[in-house]
Amino acid sequence: MPPKFGGGEKCGICQKTVYAQERVEAGNIPFHKLCFKCKTCKMSLNLNNYAQSEGELYCKNHFQSEVVAKNTQTPV
Ligand SMILES: [Zn+2]
Ligand SMILES: [Zn+2]
Repeated sequence: MPPKFGGGEKCGICQKTVYAQERVEAGNIPFHKLCFKCKTCKMSLNLNNYAQSEGELYCKNHFQSEVVAKNTQTPV
């Protein structure tokens, strides 16, 4: 079986196929528009207000509190 091209992109959140009309791309990863929301508060995001860390999406507020704050803590 030859590999398929052009139809096999998987959403970075739910891992299901992403079709063009519902596609949002961020950091070279495709997402469904409906999956493109903050992991913490589920607020819908857009390309102007999202933040991304290790495949997870956050709003700016939760990126600060969930990612930046943790990363600046002293490592255990
Ligand atoms: Zn999805
Ligand atoms: Zn949030």
